[in-house]
Amino acid sequence: MAQYDYDLFVIGAGSGGVRAARLAAMSGARVAVAEEHRVGGTCVIRGCVPKKFMVYASEFSKHFKTAETYGWSVGETRFDWPAFLAEKDKEIARLSGIYVRNLQNAGAELAHGKARLIDAHTVEIEGVGTKTADKILIATGGRPWMPKDLPGVEYAISSNEAFHLERLPKSIVIAGGGYIAVEFAGIFNGLGVDVTLVHRGPNVLRGFDDDVRSHLAEELEKRGIKVVLGCQHKSIEKTAGGLTSHLTDGHHVESDVVMFCLGREPYVEGLGLETAGVELTERGAVKVDDYSRTSVENIWAVGDVTDRINLTPVAIREGAAFAQTEFYGQRTSFDHEMVASAVFSQPPVGSVGLTEADARKQYGKVDIYLARLKPMKYAFGGDERSLLKLIVDAETERVLGCHVVGPDAPEMIQMAAIAIKMGVTKSQWDSTCAVHPTLAEELVTMREKHVPMAMGQVA
Ligand code: NDP
Repeated sequence: MAQYDYDLFVIGAGSGGVRAARLAAMSGARVAVAEEHRVGGTCVIRGCVPKKFMVYASEFSKHFKTAETYGWSVGETRFDWPAFLAEKDKEIARLSGIYVRNLQNAGAELAHGKARLIDAHTVEIEGVGTKTADKILIATGGRPWMPKDLPGVEYAISSNEAFHLERLPKSIVIAGGGYIAVEFAGIFNGLGVDVTLVHRGPNVLRGFDDDVRSHLAEELEKRGIKVVLGCQHKSIEKTAGGLTSHLTDGHHVESDVVMFCLGREPYVEGLGLETAGVELTERGAVKVDDYSRTSVENIWAVGDVTDRINLTPVAIREGAAFAQTEFYGQRTSFDHEMVASAVFSQPPVGSVGLTEADARKQYGKVDIYLARLKPMKYAFGGDERSLLKLIVDAETERVLGCHVVGPDAPEMIQMAAIAIKMGVTKSQWDSTCAVHPTLAEELVTMREKHVPMAMGQVA
């Protein structure tokens, strides 16, 4: 491949791009990666990692309340937003540095600047120059989608800005009902901000199991978040005191900050994809096959830019599968079935496999096992409830889905996902002895089938 400067040129140093670049470079290939922002991508710089630190920071207010039920005198508490931001940014810089070193240690070159395809083998990097490569991988991720035509949208922030607000607002209106909206609603609420969540749908977290959705919405409200459903923004107005959100139900809400969490879009702008002949899907993502190959033979794409399952570990696995196939001679595709995910709302959600509605559609007869209970930690006070739900194929007994809302649900679901991905049956699941006293033990001790309440029945 000496006719090209590199064997592989990766555009985007996020989770997927870095994994692919490192693996390819470790095979002895000549690899370069271009990144226009900081190395680490959405996950490390403005997503999963800083978000989780914010979740941790915000959870203390509830811990303090719980501590008092256990006999502690907590006294006055105060949260220092700038001090927290400084610590968070220090850690993000450290992690980004590790990503850079890992790339260098693997032998990959890093180019800072926005890259654009000139043709199928040529990339122009702003401020760096033109490079050629045998293979090209697009791993540019996604970015927040904003409703550009909404009057006053320029006053709203996205999750990008939420990580760097100069001051912690007193009040915030969050629009959207997906992952980011409910996670930030919990974060700001925990930090003492007055939160209103405005979502167009009948409930939050579309795509999740209906019991999870209604349970979470109730828990959010118990914590003081105002959840406004079936409604969206008509406009945002700047006033002397802050911002006014005018909503489609005729109401308006005043707040210091308005944050839009209305989904993310694949970041394809300015990449020169059309010049190189790379096709997009109807939703504007890079179209790929099972091996992440695009419509151009020597160009691949992984991660959020392909809009398959937009999660960090998925991007990593897609990047690894690409490298495995193209640089290690092992044809590998990532299996997108049974990918577990967690929503770091408060309480958090862990989910793997089918929802009850989807299972009924696909399998017909399914058995449901469901438990709602107060987590032991709150026995002395508080009205938080957890939900644990299993969905089982009535014919084969195979566990089709597991959904948890409650403390440590994300940790639980990672373990449950192993068994479910392996095709565990309900009796095998039940033969696993409980770990006591835990919330997770409820998952292996649910014996009674849950019968959904008939209309008119009283709970
Ligand atoms: P989501 O797709 O999860 O949610 C978008 C929300 O915006 C939905 O509630 C949707 O409503 C609403 N919406 C979309 N368009 C409009 C519109 N025009 N007007 C009003 N409401 C609208 O996107 P997020 O931005 O929250 O997150 C993006 C993705 O990033 C997630 O899907 C997930 O894959 C990933 N992510 C994962 C996290 C994790 O693993 N913990 C954390 C954060 C993000 P409706 O439901 O009616 O369509």
